[in-house]
Amino acid sequence: NNIVAIVGRPNVGKSTLFNRLIQRREAIVDSVSGVTRDRNYGKSEWNGKEFSVIDTGGYVRGSDDVFEGEIRKQVELAIDEADVIIFVVDVEEGITPMDETVAKLLRKVTKPVLLAVNKVDNAMREKDAVEFYNLGLGEYFTFASISGSGTGDLLDALIEAFPDKPEVEVKEDLPRFAVVGRPNAGKSSFINALIGKDRYIVTDIAGTTRDAIDTKFDRFGFEFNLVDTAGIRRKAKVKEDLEFYSVMRSVRAIEHADICILVIDATRGFEGQDQSIFWLAEKNRKGVVILVNKWDLVEKDTMSTRDYEEKIKKELMPFTDVPILFVSALTKQRLLKALEATVQVFENRKQRIPTSKFNEYMLKVIEAYPPPATKGKYVKIKYCMQLPTEVPQFVFFANMPQYVKEPYKRYLENKIRENWDFSGVPIDVYIREK
Ligand code: GDP
Repeated sequence: NNIVAIVGRPNVGKSTLFNRLIQRREAIVDSVSGVTRDRNYGKSEWNGKEFSVIDTGGYVRGSDDVFEGEIRKQVELAIDEADVIIFVVDVEEGITPMDETVAKLLRKVTKPVLLAVNKVDNAMREKDAVEFYNLGLGEYFTFASISGSGTGDLLDALIEAFPDKPEVEVKEDLPRFAVVGRPNAGKSSFINALIGKDRYIVTDIAGTTRDAIDTKFDRFGFEFNLVDTAGIRRKAKVKEDLEFYSVMRSVRAIEHADICILVIDATRGFEGQDQSIFWLAEKNRKGVVILVNKWDLVEKDTMSTRDYEEKIKKELMPFTDVPILFVSALTKQRLLKALEATVQVFENRKQRIPTSKFNEYMLKVIEAYPPPATKGKYVKIKYCMQLPTEVPQFVFFANMPQYVKEPYKRYLENKIRENWDFSGVPIDVYIREK
């Protein structure tokens, strides 16, 4: 999947463009999954091509007190993580010193950069836009983010600019794991403890490619691929201290993985940043395992694993059916268990329930507690099945699907989870006309 980053100084209309790009699709996705939308990351689609959008403006606030360093970080993130960069400027304001700073950074980049001049909604402004040639980025696109005019051409160009990536051919059906989490949670320590330091020798060969790299491992009788990305490797060198950037750096790894191993720091607890990464994984319908690392540092009499688990689960709502393991990368406590749990989640995600078994169980469940009658009408569900999709999706056929509401769908999901092991796996429940 291609990743697009939107950069530019504050208040040029990055967020409006971002919202416009992700709007149509998000509306559909979110009504199904019930998750709230992130401000900075979303999926979009144009002419049948799907891509992810990052609004890098997420961290840079205000217009007066923005440091050049912040802008620099924002652009570096885009350069690291994206396949195509959209640089937004504002025709009303003209070229500002900050625009020049951004342009200077982008001129050095070999990735496609689309210069997008916002607020161009009449012929006069079309003329004014000519000054943006001075940024030295070549041809520009004019648009108006509020009305949406011009965004079609911009999107056409965007799709054109995507690098032609050969479809990654996955020869073996090996689990693909990405180790994610905030800085200092112990991700590198975990990976090193698990597979040894030799991994760098393997992955660094392809240092110039921007794609995620799968490295095959065979440890403790398990075979799996570890998903590594250029962005993640770079992190070892760049000290990350800002929440937003480290979350966004996980995007590509998460998108390429089947299962995300989310490492959190036991001494800090499950915080906003962990939640954002968890949410990214869930939104992308990936499996998740949570490792509470540095458990060796926690006083066991003040905090039991059960209390700790309860606390985390509150933060995971409504997707709480997730394995949580207490580990130490330092003392190597329960690392094998962690790997086992991850492989199990992979199996759960692949599982296919035979239609006859599914009906046999679920129709009884529905009979015991049918959908509530609406406007004196009874909803009948007579048939259901798991769809032959890559991630678990279930469809229930009803005479009046519109009357089956979220709580009932959640009830069905819970019953599915009670009877089959979908621990760590987001699942979708659909109600359709029979
Ligand atoms: P990363 O940024 O997520 O890759 O984190 P690192 O693996 O670099 O670990 C950050 C710091 O935490 C390092 O100083 C590690 O030595 C330390 N650390 C990692 N795992 C553990 C653990 O299980 N227990 C303890 N006590 N320290 C740990």
